Parts: sequence; C-alpha cells; structure tokens
Amino acid sequence: MTPNFPSAADTTGRTLGDEEVAAVERVIRSGMLNSVWGTEAKALEREMAALYGARHAVACSSGTAALHLAVVAAAPDPGDEIVTTPVTDFGTVAPILAQNAVPVFADVDPLSGNLDPEAVRAAITPRTRAIMAVHLFGAPAALDELRAIADEHGLTLIEDCAQAWLGELPDGRPVGRIGEVGCFSLQQWKHITCGDGGLVITDDDAPAQAMRLFADKGWDRAGGRHHLSFGLNYRMTELQAAVARCQLAKLPGVVAARRRWALRLRAELAGLPGLALPDPRGHAWWYFPIVLPGGGAPELAAKLAADGIPVRSGYLAEPLNRAPLWDGPIYGTSRFPLSGPPADCPQAQRLIDETLLIVEVNENYTAGHVTAIADGFRRHVQVSGIDPS
Ligand SMILES: *Cc1c(COP(=O)(O)O)cnc(C)c1O
Repeated sequence: MTPNFPSAADTTGRTLGDEEVAAVERVIRSGMLNSVWGTEAKALEREMAALYGARHAVACSSGTAALHLAVVAAAPDPGDEIVTTPVTDFGTVAPILAQNAVPVFADVDPLSGNLDPEAVRAAITPRTRAIMAVHLFGAPAALDELRAIADEHGLTLIEDCAQAWLGELPDGRPVGRIGEVGCFSLQQWKHITCGDGGLVITDDDAPAQAMRLFADKGWDRAGGRHHLSFGLNYRMTELQAAVARCQLAKLPGVVAARRRWALRLRAELAGLPGLALPDPRGHAWWYFPIVLPGGGAPELAAKLAADGIPVRSGYLAEPLNRAPLWDGPIYGTSRFPLSGPPADCPQAQRLIDETLLIVEVNENYTAGHVTAIADGFRRHVQVSGIDPS
C-alpha cells in the first residue's frame, strides 16, 4: 500500500500553524497593512540579514521581483547580456528581459543540472554584464568557479536561491553570500511560504539602496516626495511579512528535516542500477533529483506516478532556451532586445527530455514515506532492467 504523501498545496506538507494565524491577526488588528509605515517587513528584513550575516536584506513581493531587483543592481545597459541557465523557473529569466537585457543561456552539467562553468565562460562577450546562477532543486551551483569567471571579466554574480534556502557549498559556506546579491522566494511551493514573497540580501550599500528604491517607485521616503530613480511597486505587505517571519523562524527545522529524509532516501536507493543520485553535500533538497544517464526517465516516472509515488520527469516542458516565447515579439511588435534565437543547450535538452526525474521531498515525511518511494524504485528499476551503462 502506498501511503498518502504530504502536499505543499495544503497543511499536510506545510509548516503553517497557530503562529502564522496569530501573526496575521496581530497585523489586521493594528490597522496597518502596508510595509512603508508598518513594522513587520522591516523586522523580516532584519531577521533575514541576521540569519545570513548580510549587511542588507530587502523584502519584496515575489522571488521574481527579488531577481528583478538584483538585475537592477547589476545595472545592465539596454542590450547588455546576462548569462544564465535554461533549467530554472521563468522567474529567473523574466527580470532580464524586463530590464531590456538579453538572457544568454549557457549549458548545464548533465548530472547536477547546474550551470557548467566552462559553458558560461564560452558565453561571455564584451556585452556581458552579469552571471545569474541558480541552485537547482537546492544543490549548490559551482560558485567558486563562477565567482572567478565573474571577477576575471568584471561581472556581477547574482545567486537565485529560490530553491536553496540554507543551502551550502561543500565546505559549508552558505549559498546566497558568494554573489553580490542573493535572491529568495516565499512562493507557496518553496521551503517556506507566505503565498508569494521575495527577499534579496547583499553586503554592498549602493546596490542595496538601488534595490530599495526600485521596489518603492524610486521614492526615497527619508527625503520628501522626490523620485530619485525609475522603479515599480514591488513592496511586500505587512500580512505577507508577518507570516514570513514565522516561517523564517521555522526554516532551520524545515531544512534539517528535509536533509534527514533525503539522506535516508539516498541510502535506500544506493546501489540500484542506472540511477545517478544527487551529491548530498550542502543540498537544501527542494526536490530530490535523480538522473538516468541511459535515458528512460519519462517512462520510469510514469510507472512510479501510477503507483502514487510523488515523482515526475523533466521538471519543465522544455528548457527555457526553447520556450515558445522566443518565436514572438517581446514588447508590442518588437523583438528588442533580442537579436536572434537562443543558442542550443544539448545537455539541458537531454535532461528535460530523457534523463531527469525529480522526487518530492517534504519536511513532514515519515520513514514510511521514504520506504514507499524506495520500494517503488526497487520494483520498477529492477523489473524494467534499465541499462546501468
Ligand atoms: C520559484 C522560483 C523563482 C520565482 O519565484 P516566485 O516567487 O515564484 O516569483 C525563480 N527562480 C527559481 C529557481 C524558482 O524556483
């Protein structure tokens, strides 16, 4: 019998409880729901900065907004290029276009799905302004290599940590602190949530101020009603911030539990033929990715899913360099800032089409859930006789 698995779509797979209810009530009873005049978002920013040992944290309305703020901090001129990965949420890419910059897709490592530093190096041109690294499924990207490339070429390194809350490099340094800016999401399906929400962290004063202004219509609230720069309204509300503060306090427990279950699953799956298991070092386990180097991930995922195991293949319908949007206009009838279709990324294509399978991990798993997943793999991997080569 396959047990019911916790779902991030309801309370079974979330850590939402009495603390969040009390926090929301506190805000509503205060009568102040806006973070410009309230206290909750400011407190969330202090708590986030303290958690990561960063000089600045800025709260905003989503992970996509956080990444947009980071692109603003990198200050590309229109038509400048930002190198990123095609295996990510579109929220990584949209902010590049929103600043009239060109996303340049570099190919990924065939096992981790994270940016291949050599492909990044090959993608750099005189117009490159920044590298946007994603810690896919919670696995740390090759940050030391990417930092070195960025420094060599005078580029900003942005870290998309939406899937990697409390993720670490193999030596224990936290991800989000190697780039100039680290970006986080509080969307429903992330480690912690307030429905939608985002945070950026940085040590640098000028980008922090630029991001703060952009998130609030360029309005320097300390100095009258002057608009100092172009900006939008990306403010987080006090309701979101109050919930996010409760969730942030629970984050270490969430990540510790996910690590415990993921390591147990990894141990149970070790030795099964044809599966490349994820490197556990520093992993934050948003998902538990498995690569089938010989292919067959869609077929195996279908069999496991039919048994009620929370698994799917590919993650995306297509790598983002092959999204339908590149065939049409970007603004009005114009294709600016694009000059041609994105380059091929064969490793990313193969991951999505043939080799990648992702297993849900949840802090509320029990040993029974892990065993049920492992039993499913044992059943179908051995029966289907996947070629281990
Ligand atoms: C979720 C996610 C985003 C976007 O965050 P939203 O809060 O949904 O806007 C960006 N990048 C990655 C890697 C994500 O997983």
